[in-house]
Amino acid sequence: MEDKYGRKINYLRVSLIDRCNLRCRYCMPKEGIIKRPYNELLRFEDILKIIKAAAHLGINKIRYTGGEPLIVKDIDYLIEETAKIQGVSDLAITTNGTLLYDLADKLKSVGLKRVNISLDTLKRDKFNYITRGGNIDTVLKSIEKCLSIGLTPVKINVVLIKGFNDEEVVDFIRITKDLPIEIRFIELMPIGQGEKLYKTSYLSSENVLKIIKNTFELVPQKTHSGSTVSLYKVDNYRGNIGFISPMSCKFCKNCNRIRLTSVGNLKPCLHSDKVINLKSCLNNAELLTENLKQGILSKPLQHNMDSKNKSESNKMMYQIGG
Ligand code: SAM
Ligand code: SF4
Repeated sequence: MEDKYGRKINYLRVSLIDRCNLRCRYCMPKEGIIKRPYNELLRFEDILKIIKAAAHLGINKIRYTGGEPLIVKDIDYLIEETAKIQGVSDLAITTNGTLLYDLADKLKSVGLKRVNISLDTLKRDKFNYITRGGNIDTVLKSIEKCLSIGLTPVKINVVLIKGFNDEEVVDFIRITKDLPIEIRFIELMPIGQGEKLYKTSYLSSENVLKIIKNTFELVPQKTHSGSTVSLYKVDNYRGNIGFISPMSCKFCKNCNRIRLTSVGNLKPCLHSDKVINLKSCLNNAELLTENLKQGILSKPLQHNMDSKNKSESNKMMYQIGG
């Protein structure tokens, strides 16, 4: 269905859990995380009910995220049931990749189409630092596994952090020479734990493009409608390079998504305080559909993260679902 600005909304991102097995410095605090009791989270049957209703309104893309979606017990069952929903044609997850190696075969066999894996550095010690304790090998072997079983395209999310990974952007691009991987450079957002880091370490896509152009000639690529990525390729390389620039170049006019938090709140925009509680209407199909419609119709024209009136929401990416 279209929102009131004529954007076709066909993409729902569902955060399954606000817990994670890593503590990325721009995302989660080291300590003091208030863990929601499991009984407050949506159950699988609730999530499936919401997705079915959303599919009737034209949502055909589902992405499970978090927190870390792969720490959720029996996620293969949820993927399997989601894949069966009529109208759902694209089913993906965003994951830190640490647990994916063992799950990839199963998830693919039950209907997972593709994965985005977060990896902000290619260096072991820096990975351990940024994730506060993660082991890069667990992620690298998951990436290899996904490529080998055809869980593709594999997209690698790299959050740009000045002074941390700007010197590695060229190394990331070299990966696309022989591998059909899309490297997606994402601008750091002043949200949650990213707020403090943003002041010192924000790096725009434009500046990174300049760094890259010293070494490579980038050829712009076409993207599908609703895409929030600017896509490039080095001639004759197998993979692509994407830039997601929520801060320097708002992509709101192409935004095609709504979000569902792990406790059942529908968020029309990542950066707005507005939420619609869907948990309270799970047993009333008509009201559920009505609330979903309202969510879509209340999508703002654009986010206000860069304005003085920015949302006062103190929600973090791991709570909303990145
Ligand atoms: N745990 C999974 C992962 O890391 O891929 C999924 C959830 S995570 C919140 C989703 C994405 O949000 C990740 O790619 C992460 O790097 C990104 N992210 C988290 N905080 C961010 C911030 N402040 N600015 C930009 N991206 C952020
Ligand atoms: Fe966990 Fe993903 Fe946040 Fe890192 S970015 S702390 S892996 S939720």
